[in-house]
Amino acid sequence: MKKVVILMCTCSGACPSMEEIDFWELAERIRLELPHDYLVMHPRLCEENGEAMMADLLKPDAVYITPACGEKKQMKLLLGGFARAGVPMDEEHWIPIMMGMKNTDEVFAEIKAAVERVEESEK
Ligand code: SF4
Repeated sequence: MKKVVILMCTCSGACPSMEEIDFWELAERIRLELPHDYLVMHPRLCEENGEAMMADLLKPDAVYITPACGEKKQMKLLLGGFARAGVPMDEEHWIPIMMGMKNTDEVFAEIKAAVERVEESEK
């Protein structure tokens, strides 16, 4: 059974497109309501210390749900971290979620749907 890890990038907590998201409420709802192994929040996954954390943390036996910027942007900006960890950015290991222009409820619903998709695929 694959680990399910939610790896959230808060974009420093000051991105105008994420101003409708209460990250603390979101984190606690994920913790309480969604089946997953653990949640990690980082302020800037695309910077050096974000990539360094990913290099240490990411493992091939997990799927990483990444609420962050737009999916295509994540494909470019998170590439370094996944590459340093040796984990491919394919459907088996990575589910990107765009948080921009969404509120807490909307992001939570997308993360929930992603977790459910992983659970379904593991049956
Ligand atoms: S990965 Fe995306 S969401 Fe995270 S800091 Fe970089 S631009 Fe912002």
